[in-house]
Amino acid sequence: MMILKHKFVDKIPDILEEKVLYVSMEYETVIHKCACGCGNEIVTPLSPAEWSITFNGETISLEPSIGSWSLDCKSHYWITNNRVKWSYKYSVEAIEKVKKSDLEAKKDHFEKTNSKPKELENKRKERESLWKHIKSWGNNFFSSK
Ligand SMILES: [Zn+2]
Repeated sequence: MMILKHKFVDKIPDILEEKVLYVSMEYETVIHKCACGCGNEIVTPLSPAEWSITFNGETISLEPSIGSWSLDCKSHYWITNNRVKWSYKYSVEAIEKVKKSDLEAKKDHFEKTNSKPKELENKRKERESLWKHIKSWGNNFFSSK
């Protein structure tokens, strides 16, 4: 099991060390060298439509998985609590399918291969409904005056 280190950085360094996750909040990006050792730099922008990180105070998890089908190595792995968990390698057909598919299909793909985004989605909905509840309570409160 490969274990990565993480570094919070202001700027992405010119030369990246192997097995280090560089997290830049300023650039809302995580960058690391491909875990297979091929030397390619994997850039994972942080946004609701792209990747999210979870930092528990000690380790970092990235969601969804890292799928470098555009690279020669075709690596596909999860980074969970700084650990690299390898998945199957993308076959040529699967890569073509992903390339041709639209965004919706990609989302389906990630949902099938990774249940975490759904859990997050549920959490988000929970929070939203709580917020709505608070807001409507607030409105009632103020309008009753
Ligand atoms: Zn690689």
